[in-house]
Amino acid sequence: MTQCLACGGSTKTRREKHYRYTECGLPNVIIEDAVRVTTCERCGETYTSLPAIEPLHRQIAAAVIRKKGRLAPAEIRFLRKWLGWSGADFAKCTGTKPETVSRWENGKALMGPQADRLLRVLVAKETPVMEYSVDVLAQVAADDGPATPVRVELEKGPKGWKFRRGPALVTGT
Ligand SMILES: [Zn+2]
Repeated sequence: MTQCLACGGSTKTRREKHYRYTECGLPNVIIEDAVRVTTCERCGETYTSLPAIEPLHRQIAAAVIRKKGRLAPAEIRFLRKWLGWSGADFAKCTGTKPETVSRWENGKALMGPQADRLLRVLVAKETPVMEYSVDVLAQVAADDGPATPVRVELEKGPKGWKFRRGPALVTGT
């Protein structure tokens, strides 16, 4: 983009070295070297552009379900939306009420280990590019501490998104 969409002024674009991608709803997802921010030199409007959002979200979902410990409220919301489900859909699937799903997602109630496992399995089924070990599920119930959002760092390689840092990829046995 060379002209501002708002005022027609000329723009400058820079590439962000480390971009904290909070727009996805998760606080600790860092995109390395792939985000471009364009700023209008006249009105100051900024435009952020990110390539290949769908595969990026798939990779983030894959990292989240590999984390150890309970899913944090923001992660529950991210995965549920990634599946394309409404709160009511997810409530039906887990045999609970939409209000309960809201409470899980705003941190007012702790989602139980059964619903946690179910959500991860549903996402794993939709994520064929990765190997998923059920051992991760075994330790979900063991962890009763407060859930901390996972930290993931991603960069865009020639073959698509790859992890720079994040929960280890599990290779099948
Ligand atoms: Zn402008």
